Amino acid sequence: MAHSINDDCINCGACDDSCPVNAISEQDGKRVIDADTCIDCGACVDTCPVNAILGH
Ligand code: SF4
Repeated sequence: MAHSINDDCINCGACDDSCPVNAISEQDGKRVIDADTCIDCGACVDTCPVNAILGH
């Protein structure tokens, strides 16, 4: 199961460059993680200032 970004996201973009497989993109004013691309590495989690990125 992939990591995901919840509704707390403020669309700051801080996580974008942390992802080694570029799974994070913007959609409808929030960041989203493409579940099919995410390799579940967890590198993005600590980059989020509002702790909106969750593991599983
Ligand atoms: Fe990218 Fe790793 Fe975060 Fe998945 S867990 S979105 S692969 S940085």
